[in-house]
Amino acid sequence: MDIELVNTLTQRTNESQILSLRDSLEKCQKFVADFPELVPRYQLAKQVIRAFRRPAFYEMSQRCNLWCEGCYYFENKNRIEVTHEPRQTEWESFFDTEHSRNVTMGYFVGAEPALEVDRLRAAVGRIPYGKIGTNGTIRIDSDIQFRIGISVWGDEETDTSLRGGSVLRKALRNYQGDPRAIMLFTLSPWNLHTVPTVLDACRDHGLPVTFSMFSPTHTYLDKIRRQTPADSQFYRIAATKGAPVFTPDDLDRTSDILSLAMETHPDIVLFSDAYREWITRPGPLYNIDQETGIANDCGSRIRGALRYHSTGLQPAAVKCCTPDVDCSECRLYSGSWSSQFRPAPEYLQTVQTFRNWLDMIEVLGRIFLYPLPPAYDELVARQ
Ligand code: SF4
Ligand code: SF4
Repeated sequence: MDIELVNTLTQRTNESQILSLRDSLEKCQKFVADFPELVPRYQLAKQVIRAFRRPAFYEMSQRCNLWCEGCYYFENKNRIEVTHEPRQTEWESFFDTEHSRNVTMGYFVGAEPALEVDRLRAAVGRIPYGKIGTNGTIRIDSDIQFRIGISVWGDEETDTSLRGGSVLRKALRNYQGDPRAIMLFTLSPWNLHTVPTVLDACRDHGLPVTFSMFSPTHTYLDKIRRQTPADSQFYRIAATKGAPVFTPDDLDRTSDILSLAMETHPDIVLFSDAYREWITRPGPLYNIDQETGIANDCGSRIRGALRYHSTGLQPAAVKCCTPDVDCSECRLYSGSWSSQFRPAPEYLQTVQTFRNWLDMIEVLGRIFLYPLPPAYDELVARQ
């Protein structure tokens, strides 16, 4: 793995960070030299990481057809609102420029990108890998060959209460058997009981599943703290029910549920044990800057090579793709997975912990990349 690549991805810039990164890479190489059976897995990790060497976020739409409780996008009192959005030809020229900039991975986010399918189409052929975050209620045409991550919030009853309708049912119907699709189930203390039902439904529709964890915005938490009366938009339930934040007990329960999900549905659940342990540990997951309250070491921070463009097609100076989410409560899958490119010291202790890191990178690739890099086929052929 080359040091500049990981340095770019992890946004390490100063001398001591580069030295520590070099040390990590040397340790990786030593494990591979001592255990040659790891060579194909390490090659695969390098291919996966290389696919993310120049990533960018693109906000494709400022509209959505749903009203989800605590929405990370609309429950943001400082949201950038673009009043005059560019025409289609300008989106095409914009992605030409992004192509010239050698962007390798586009994260197409919203509000709801499926409402702007021509904009998505403008990125096809210009950005090699893409990951679209959608609610799944509007099917994205099959000529848009990017990974499609479909947000899931629970079973029919939970969907109706938290999102105002049968979102999962529509998404399953729209994407049954679609190789681009992966279901992204956002767990919260309010929906943990629905995991078995949702997993069975996804299995029956030939769809893989991974998990994120609900992470509230400052706007939402402030409303709860101030006991603001409920409104009819994105703050309907917490006014009486309280914040859906994870207590240490909730985290233990979540960890158990995730273990069980991997055990009962190994054919469709994309997760890893090491990642489960990391994402469910108590306290902030990140090193939080005491002055700003922002995570110093989150891989989703918009800095270095990583950019965020609003629907005005201008780079936006935001901390990450969910700028109002409270970093100290954040367990979103975007920040969590993108913080794994560089193996943390705990994964470089023994060959087993190094294997755990390789597991994570393999799962990360399966979640974000479509089609999968050739190293996946080579690995399967060797087994
Ligand atoms: S689908 Fe996403 S953007 Fe739309 S309301 Fe729900 S959480 Fe917000
Ligand atoms: S993704 Fe990272 S920067 Fe964004 S809210 Fe979460 S921890 Fe903070």
